[in-house]
Amino acid sequence: MGLNEITERMHKAEAAAGRETGATRLIAVSKKQPDDRVAAVLDQGHRIFGENRVQEAAGKWPGFRERYDGIDLHIIGPLQTNKARQAMELAQAIHSLDRPKLAQTLARLAQELGQCPELFVQVNTGEEPQKAGVLPAEIDGFVSECRALDLPVRGLMCIPPVDEAASLHFALLAKFAARNGLGGLSMGMSGDFEEAIALGATHVRVGSAIFGARPAPA
Ligand SMILES: *Cc1c(COP(=O)(O)O)cnc(C)c1O
Repeated sequence: MGLNEITERMHKAEAAAGRETGATRLIAVSKKQPDDRVAAVLDQGHRIFGENRVQEAAGKWPGFRERYDGIDLHIIGPLQTNKARQAMELAQAIHSLDRPKLAQTLARLAQELGQCPELFVQVNTGEEPQKAGVLPAEIDGFVSECRALDLPVRGLMCIPPVDEAASLHFALLAKFAARNGLGGLSMGMSGDFEEAIALGATHVRVGSAIFGARPAPA
C-alpha cells in the first residue's frame, strides 16, 4: 500500500458516493512509526499527520517542522488535562474532546494563549465501557456546553467497536453531527475508510495502510 494507493482509493470512494474529489482529508497516523517512514511521506508532499500521544508528538514533530513547512498536526488520542497546553501549542486539531473538565481546561487555555485548535468531540457510539467518548445521550448537551465556552467545535469523531459493522456507527455519527449543525466527521481508519467516506467522513485517520504495520515495541 502507501500514500498514493490510499489517495487513489479515497478518490474512488468519493466519486462512488457522489462527493467532490478531495472532499475528505487524509490524516496520516504516524504514531509509533519510525522517522524514516514519516519523512518518506513528507517527501511525497503530504502534510496532514495524526498522533495519539502528546508526548510522542512533542518528541518528533518540532524536528520535522524545522525541515518541512506547512505541517498540520492532529492529536487523535486520549488527552489528559495536564497535557492540554502542550497539545494546544503543538497541534492544529484535537479529535478527542470527550469530557466537561477537558472542555473547561481547553477554554481557559484558549483565553490565555489567544488561539485554539479545531476540536472534534469524541463519541462512544458503541457505548463501550472501556472506551473514551461522550455517550450518544449526552452529545447534544455536551456540544452546547462547548459552544457556551466559545470552543471551536468543528465536528464529531468515533472509533467503532472492533466486532461490529463500522458503517452503522459512521451513519449514527453523521446523524448526531447533522442534528447539532456540525460539518466535520472524523471517522474511518485503515480497514474501513472507504465506508466512512461513503457516509460523509470529512477526515479519515489512516495509519498502517500508509506506513505499514507499526513495529512492535522492543
Ligand atoms: C492508531 C489510530 C488510527 C489509525 O489506525 P490504523 O488502523 O493504523 O489505520 C486511527 N485513529 C485513532 C484514534 C488511532 O489511535
